[in-house]
Amino acid sequence: MEATKTHIFRINRENFEIMIKAAARIIKDGGTVAFPTETVYGLGADALNPAAVMKIFRAKARPADNPLIAHVASRRQICEIAEEVPACAFDLMDAFMPGPLTLILKRKVVVPDVTTGGLDTVAVRMPDHPVALGLIRVSGTPIAAPSANRSGKPSPTTAAHVAADLTGRIDAIIDGGQVRIGVESTVLDLTSPTPTILRPGGIGIEDIRGCVDKVKDAGGARGAGDMGAMRAMGDPGDVASAGISVAKSPGMKYTHYAPETPMILVEGTPDSVTTSISRAIAEYHKKGSRVGLMMTKETAEQVSGDENLILCARNDPGAYAHNLFGSMRYLDSLNVDVIIADGSIQSTGVGAAVLNRLRKAAGHQ
Ligand code: AMP
Ligand code: MG
Repeated sequence: MEATKTHIFRINRENFEIMIKAAARIIKDGGTVAFPTETVYGLGADALNPAAVMKIFRAKARPADNPLIAHVASRRQICEIAEEVPACAFDLMDAFMPGPLTLILKRKVVVPDVTTGGLDTVAVRMPDHPVALGLIRVSGTPIAAPSANRSGKPSPTTAAHVAADLTGRIDAIIDGGQVRIGVESTVLDLTSPTPTILRPGGIGIEDIRGCVDKVKDAGGARGAGDMGAMRAMGDPGDVASAGISVAKSPGMKYTHYAPETPMILVEGTPDSVTTSISRAIAEYHKKGSRVGLMMTKETAEQVSGDENLILCARNDPGAYAHNLFGSMRYLDSLNVDVIIADGSIQSTGVGAAVLNRLRKAAGHQ
């Protein structure tokens, strides 16, 4: 890929409008801009311009059949790109938009095939971030935006993460500081007979259940989901027989979120997790390996590795989410031989999304 000059826009209260205007100009001209949302940084392009959307796939080296989420700033924009919007979608919009919820709806023909990976549905989300909303509004178009990382790498939660992966491959990065949530949106399919969670994320399945009568979990909110659901079943072919259609969410068949360093995840009761981590550290040390630990503060009271990151208390999965991807990147930079992640957190709310990302990062080790 030919090198592009990547402009950095450091946005703040004083220069907000000028920066948004400059970035929106790039989007309108068919370019690519990485920008902060409340979940992770997104890599945006005009969702209705196929040539612009192609640039996202090229910059990320993302497989062409993995569809993108169209980010909108209003309900009107949702209705411009989606058809047959069911009544429950409006209830969900009332409850969770703007916010970390992506809805899968029937698409209108204005949405090009590259954006949807050739599916007849479109994913829509309204981000809860002033920079993202400002950029979409001023660009005057829905913005297709997957996470702004190279495909397969942990999602970026700071502009520095984006720059590390994509400098020279995209037109601009808006630096709006560290994101608030730290894991991606919950993806909810409203085109199946029963609304189905395709990916756990920033909004807990419990919250969605409080709003929609029946919600199915395609394995994701239990923590498997995506690739996880598949590996657990052994073979991608099994996914269809388990009622999770690969065609429904092509992203499911790809590995994601992995640090460069091999990672293992330890799950179980708090006591068993602590015991297993101690045992694993001892074994790695016998082999002369350096161990990086991502832990809860309760576990950290009992074990210690060569590099220790304390992410949260067990009952605070939100803090784990906030620190998750940054910790993976940081431990990669310290050149440890193995990362051990503590899975003893509460699995409700955003905890399900954290465990899902950890299982995928660990390749189910
Ligand atoms: P990312 O933007 O990288 O966080 O990934 C977006 C996720 O949404 C991927 O798992 C996609 O497979 C999923 N997705 C996007 N569009 C659709 C769609 N039309 N139908 C089902 N899943 C989708
Ligand atoms: Mg992604």
